[in-house]
Amino acid sequence: MKVPFVDLNIQHNDIREEINDAIKNTIDSSSFIGGEAINVFEEKFAHFIGVDSCCGCANGTDSIEILLKALGVGIGDEVIVPAISWLSTSEAVSAVGATPVFVDIDADYYTIDLTKVETAITKNTKAIIPVHLYGQAVNMDVLLQIAQKHKLAILEDCAQAHGAQYNNRTVGSFADCASFSFFPGKNLGAFGDAGAMVSNNSELIKYARMIANHGQQGKHNHLIEGRNSRLDNLQARILNIKLQHLDKYNQQRIDASEIYNDLLKDCNVQVPKQLPLSKHVYHLYVIRSQKRDELMQFLSTQGIQTAIHYPTALPFLKCYEHMKNRSEDFPVAYKYQNEILSLPMFPGITKEQIQYVCEAVVKFS
Ligand SMILES: *Cc1c(COP(=O)(O)O)cnc(C)c1O
Repeated sequence: MKVPFVDLNIQHNDIREEINDAIKNTIDSSSFIGGEAINVFEEKFAHFIGVDSCCGCANGTDSIEILLKALGVGIGDEVIVPAISWLSTSEAVSAVGATPVFVDIDADYYTIDLTKVETAITKNTKAIIPVHLYGQAVNMDVLLQIAQKHKLAILEDCAQAHGAQYNNRTVGSFADCASFSFFPGKNLGAFGDAGAMVSNNSELIKYARMIANHGQQGKHNHLIEGRNSRLDNLQARILNIKLQHLDKYNQQRIDASEIYNDLLKDCNVQVPKQLPLSKHVYHLYVIRSQKRDELMQFLSTQGIQTAIHYPTALPFLKCYEHMKNRSEDFPVAYKYQNEILSLPMFPGITKEQIQYVCEAVVKFS
C-alpha cells in the first residue's frame, strides 16, 4: 500500500463541478482582480471565525507582515514568537524592521511556553505572535492576561488552525487581530497562494486593507506608500466553495487523529497531547520518536510518506546565526526538532491507510 502525506484530490473530487463552474465564471466575466466573490468570502470567513472584519490578501506571510505594520510595529521594536513555527512568523517581524525574540515551546503542546513569555519581555517589546501550531490552540486566557499586564498587542498566527477552538471560542477571535494562510495544503486551502487578516477592530482592518492596496483610499488617492497584496477573484470563488465544507474536513481530521491515537497508544512513540478545553483541528498529526530519522526511513520503504515540521527550530536556522541563539535557552525546541515526525493526515484518509501506517510504526518500534 502507498500512503501519501497529503491527498488533495479526494476533497476536490467531491466539489469538482462547482469548482469548474467557478473557474469558468471567472474566465467568462474577465473579472480576475477584485469582484463580488471577494466581498462574499471576507464576510463569510469573518462570520466563521466570529469576528467583525476580514480582509483577504495574497498569502499568509503577507497577512502577518501587513497586520504588524497596521499595529504600528516597526524599527526598534521587539516581537515575541515561538521557537517552533514556519519561518513566516519571524520573517514577517523582520520584514517590518522589528526583531523577532524567540521563546521556547511547551513540552506537552508544542505551542509557545506561556511560563517563559514574561521573561522575554523588554521595554522594546511591542507584540506577541502566538502560533496555533499543528492545529492546536494556544491557551489564550493565560496569554491575554500577560499581554494586558504588559500592554502588548497580540497577533494570532492561525495559518495551521482554521476552526480550532479554545474554550468554545474560535482561534483568530481572541486577540487584537489574526492572520490566516490558504496555501493549498492548509485546513482551508485555495488553488494557489491566498491569505486573510481578521479582527474585531474594523478600523485596524480598514488600515490593513489600505496598506495591502498601495495605500489607496479610493482610486489614485495614495495616503501612504503601501504594497500590492490582494486575494484574487478566482481564489475567493474557490474558497467560498471550500469554506462550506471546512467543518466537515476538520471533523475528518479529528476522526483520523483518534484512530491514530488508539492504534499508537501502546508503542514507544509519543502521540500528540491535546490542551484541555480546546478543539485541535490536526492540520498535522505529529508524533515524537527517539529514533525519528530511522523511523522516517523505514516508513518510506513501506510506501508511507511523512514529513518534519520543522527539522530546524527557528532560533537555530542559518538566517538567525547572527543572533547567536544558544541551545540551552530553547531546550525543548532543540531536543524536539530531532524527534518530531508528521504522519499522513488529510480529510479522506481511510481507516485502512491509518491502520497500515500504525502497523508499520509499531513494527519499527
Ligand atoms: C503556512 C504558514 C504561514 C504562511 O503562509 P503562506 O500562505 O505560505 O505565506 C505562516 N505561519 C504558519 C505557522 C504557517 O504554517
